Amino acid sequence: MAITEDTPYPVEFSAPKELIDHAQYLEEELFQIGDHKVWDYNTPNKGFGNVIMIEGDDGLIIVDTTTAHEHAQVAQQAFAKLTSKPVKAIIYTHHHADHINGAGAFTSAEEVANGEVSVIASDTFLREMSDENQATAPIMGLRASYMYGQLLDPNGDGRDYHISCCGYQLQAQTTSYLAPNHFISDSETLTIAGVKLTLFKTGGESASHLAVYLPDSKILLSGDEIQGPNYPNLHSLRGTKPRDAQKWIAALDRMRTFDADYLVPSHGQPVIGKQEVAKVLTTYRDVIQFTHDQSIRYINKGFTPDELANAITLPSRLSHEPWTQEMYGTVKHNVREYYVAYISWWNGDPAELDPIPRQEAARRMVALMGGRDQVLTAAETAFFDDDPQWASELSALLVRIDSQDTRARQLKAAALRTIGYATSNTNWRGFYLTSALELEGKVVPQQVRQQMMQSLFKPEDIGTAQLLEMLRYRIDADELGDDQLKIAYRFSDTEENFTLELRNGILQLHSVLLQDSDVTMTLARTTLDRVFQQQLDYADAIAQDLIQVDGSLLALRQFGQVIDQDQGNPYLSLR
Ligand SMILES: [Zn+2]
Repeated sequence: MAITEDTPYPVEFSAPKELIDHAQYLEEELFQIGDHKVWDYNTPNKGFGNVIMIEGDDGLIIVDTTTAHEHAQVAQQAFAKLTSKPVKAIIYTHHHADHINGAGAFTSAEEVANGEVSVIASDTFLREMSDENQATAPIMGLRASYMYGQLLDPNGDGRDYHISCCGYQLQAQTTSYLAPNHFISDSETLTIAGVKLTLFKTGGESASHLAVYLPDSKILLSGDEIQGPNYPNLHSLRGTKPRDAQKWIAALDRMRTFDADYLVPSHGQPVIGKQEVAKVLTTYRDVIQFTHDQSIRYINKGFTPDELANAITLPSRLSHEPWTQEMYGTVKHNVREYYVAYISWWNGDPAELDPIPRQEAARRMVALMGGRDQVLTAAETAFFDDDPQWASELSALLVRIDSQDTRARQLKAAALRTIGYATSNTNWRGFYLTSALELEGKVVPQQVRQQMMQSLFKPEDIGTAQLLEMLRYRIDADELGDDQLKIAYRFSDTEENFTLELRNGILQLHSVLLQDSDVTMTLARTTLDRVFQQQLDYADAIAQDLIQVDGSLLALRQFGQVIDQDQGNPYLSLR
């Protein structure tokens, strides 16, 4: 349902001055690091994330490649004006999309395959990529598009949004990711194109995180262990595995031992001078430890997640402009994560162990409060009395009971928009303003996710085992029932063999052909890619002789039926 009539609750656009002022740290700009042959291109093409180039005797090293090919190309063109030396290596500091998706601007798949160019990453990179960028991509990608303001009108709500945490407004563009071919297992010192680099696993901001130190020029490339000019996102609202604060602190302590003259993060501007670098690193590690340790302190006193969020605030002595401003992380959302990571999702009160389902609870609550009209009046009063949070909570009850209640949706949208315009935290602002559009029917999660997956999901970039393993998360266990199936794949071009064994409602991937499979398919890897992209189904592929089948066609049909095709419509606020 698209709400087309004018809302009775108009909200005038605004943005806090501190949010607008924060833009200065993320302007598109090319920096040379001292007089060293190292350049840091900030947010090329008004993108999201930096590209760093290190020039050696006979070649170049690129660290991080930003969100999209179009952004990386702008950096590549700027670097080409400085040097015509060939790229010898690309280093990914970690697996997040804003660091890996422009690699193709600097080299080609052929150059990587024939060993001319090394693509270097942590040995946990592929695992993390599979867990975060693939297995949970549908929901995490959707939430990321809300969080980063991707769906906001660049000339409307999205104006000033580009100031963001880490770059400009995120737009879906072409990706040219290239898989790593050199993995770092702990710490390694390499000489590439005559440049000595120490790469070391850090594992704080993400488990796959690497940092790079250039001992000869005393330049430290911190990746996102310094998350740009922001108090860090110790937990990401888009969805993330718990981020290991202890490892993050240890990583920053290791960086402090270098006494670096320059600190170049992958978001925001470089930090120049030994003293300033030490100050940023120290404040940053302290603000992480403060958040973590105070959370544990209060958790032990019995504080629940909601109470933690209201108990802990950053002391002014940990304020170091702009490095610890709550533009990206907030204490309120970070501290809750420690409760989940260390203790439980549950607050310990058995009354909340198996609560009445939220829709039924809302129905009972509203009835008790005098019914829908009474609750709507109270919500309106709160809204006009400058209490948009209470207005959003009251109208949420009505939306939950009846998602077609236009007036309640408009009111909840207006309440969220009011809060969103007033907030300077970019993540929160993104969720408030995009959820308002969702409530107004202008953003439909199902469509957003479909477009996102079409533009970002490239099966050809994913290893065969990882691709097949993604099916684990789509097994319709009711449909499978007590049946067992063994579906074998023999890839004629890559010479890989796999069997998917389905039993007890689960799928187990075996990297061999099991003898007693129900059916064996022989196919090219590219055929599987087309099946995953829904350009082809198994029946068509068989009819076109792209798949040769040996065994039971009935088993194959049943396999098709147990793969869940319904991806739901994951509303975040209209529910
Ligand atoms: Zn990043």
